[in-house]
Amino acid sequence: MTRTDVIVIGAGLAGLSAARDLVAGGADVVVLEARGRAGGRVEQTRMADGRPIQLGGEVIGESHTSYRQLVAELGLTIVPSFTGIPGESTWLVSEGRALGDEMPWMPAADRAIYDELEQKFAALTATVDPDDPWAHPDAVALDRLSVGDWLRSEGATPAVLRAMELRTLALADPSIERRSLLADLRKEATAGAVGFYDYDAWESAKVLEGSATVALRMAEELGHRIRYGSPVRAVDVTSADGTGTGVVVTLHTGERLHAADVVCALPAGPLRDLRISGVSEAYLAAATRRQHAPAAKLVTVHATSFWEANGQNGTGYFEHTLLGGTWVQTDGALSALVPVDRLGPYLALPTTARQDALLDELVAAYGPEARDTQAVFVRDWFADPYTQGYITAWRPGDLTAVGPLHGTHEPPFWLVGSDQWVCGYMEGAVRTGRGAAAQLLAR
Ligand SMILES: Cc1cc2nc3c(=O)[nH]c(=O)nc-3n(C[C@H](O)[C@H](O)[C@H](O)COP(=O)(O)OP(=O)(O)OC[C@H]3O[C@@H](n4cnc5c(N)ncnc54)[C@H](O)[C@@H]3O)c2cc1C
Repeated sequence: MTRTDVIVIGAGLAGLSAARDLVAGGADVVVLEARGRAGGRVEQTRMADGRPIQLGGEVIGESHTSYRQLVAELGLTIVPSFTGIPGESTWLVSEGRALGDEMPWMPAADRAIYDELEQKFAALTATVDPDDPWAHPDAVALDRLSVGDWLRSEGATPAVLRAMELRTLALADPSIERRSLLADLRKEATAGAVGFYDYDAWESAKVLEGSATVALRMAEELGHRIRYGSPVRAVDVTSADGTGTGVVVTLHTGERLHAADVVCALPAGPLRDLRISGVSEAYLAAATRRQHAPAAKLVTVHATSFWEANGQNGTGYFEHTLLGGTWVQTDGALSALVPVDRLGPYLALPTTARQDALLDELVAAYGPEARDTQAVFVRDWFADPYTQGYITAWRPGDLTAVGPLHGTHEPPFWLVGSDQWVCGYMEGAVRTGRGAAAQLLAR
């Protein structure tokens, strides 16, 4: 049986950043990756003209300090994202298509209520400690409440609820009716309590060389330490086969590897598929309770950013469609997501008709040129066995059910990954990966 200091399971941003720091700290590390590539939920392809196209995670916010630090260490470049692109947003709603920054159906009186509720939300956010939301005196009640129920209880009108739902689905988050208020408050507390989800706080920047390049650079550094095509089946913290304390990791092939510690860097779904023994029942129950919002991603690549000629900035909010909305990924490329609440109708379409249906929606928003593509990518992340989702989602009651074990470790079992942070994101992956490596090395 092969022996090593640390086995890292999963070569996404979390596993790679943990492994990189562990190697730098002098540890002997093996990374076991199920797929034939590194990056996990960051993945890219390149157009003939050199444009890197992201099929997974893309943008970051102002408060994403761990990710920014890593990007700097890797010699990559942070540049502004779509949020700074001039022009008007596109609203594809019941009333038809409208351009402008304001929600087209929103009368002034409802807009005032929206603003008032946003202030109340920001004030409530300021009462939540993102590192310990469970310490809030009303944690259980706030967690049981859906965002939608809270809005209604505070006097939200149908127009305000409609705006909140539309903005939510544009992000491919679950409906406001199926999201914990406490989890949303915790998330925004991380970004400095600015109000409802704010694009500048969460999405204002990106890596010029392509976000997946961050993972690929680390994979390059780690070289032979990564074993691709090596899906893990089981982790046993108790049976170190007479070699002292440690962990035995079993691959799907039956091969067994022994290490002093294991860093498990899998998304919530694949983590549930793993047979884990030797950690406490409470820890395992909390770890496997976490959920994802599944989603599919569409990227269309065009010769130019043709929408600009019509005064459109490429940011779209779509109401009765499959796509939740659009944003500009890079010159001439639009990104879009099918959110969990619309996956039912998406799946009901024959597989051969799905891409066309999504393109029809882009045509409705941006005109016939939307069909004039150099390339179209549809990535069904929800159906990928090694992801089974998109980003972390907290249903009402889930945050308190998982409890303060969220983000903790039970050495020699270290659990990292974006799902172990507040709300997912590339920041969560890097922050938890590097955090665990630092703690492990310090022991
Ligand atoms: C479409 C999409 C858009 C997104 N947009 C953004 C965005 O704009 N900004 C942002 O910050 N975040 C975004 N995210 C989220 C972000 O990409 C992820 O949170 C982050 O990359 C997750 O990193 P991770 O290392 O925790 O997990 P992953 O990247 O999922 O890595 C886990 C790794 O484990 C491997 N694995 C799974 N099962 C096994 C097994 N049994 N054995 C061995 N290996 C296994 C997987 O193959 C994978 O490589 C997006 C995600 C998606 C899918």
